[in-house]
Amino acid sequence: MAKGLNYDYFERKLKKVREAVLQEINDLEPKVGENPLESGEETTPFPTHIADIADVESRLDRDSYLISQYSKELKDIDAAHRKIVEKTYGICEDCGSNIGNERLKAIPYARYCKSCAESREKKSWRKEEL
Ligand SMILES: [Zn+2]
Repeated sequence: MAKGLNYDYFERKLKKVREAVLQEINDLEPKVGENPLESGEETTPFPTHIADIADVESRLDRDSYLISQYSKELKDIDAAHRKIVEKTYGICEDCGSNIGNERLKAIPYARYCKSCAESREKKSWRKEEL
């Protein structure tokens, strides 16, 4: 168990973040669901201007990307919640040292300490592992 952490504070914070992320997903999901390219196919036999199609596609791409990012975040938040229950919250999953109050305040569902997160980022070139 990480010392000096206010578990109640972080539990409340995680709840808030979780609600916000769920809200974002709820807002985005209907947009991705109603694909105007698919639903408009039968009523418009001629293809829409190619720029319009690209526009819609990039918007859908971005929304689906955001949803997948938020879903990932949700998983991390739930994992962090479990760790609070198991009293392992705030401990780096890689090296076992304390993640630290400041970092957890910024990212309450952080799984790694700063240096482990940075070395992971360098290794994988993927920022979302943070
Ligand atoms: Zn670490």
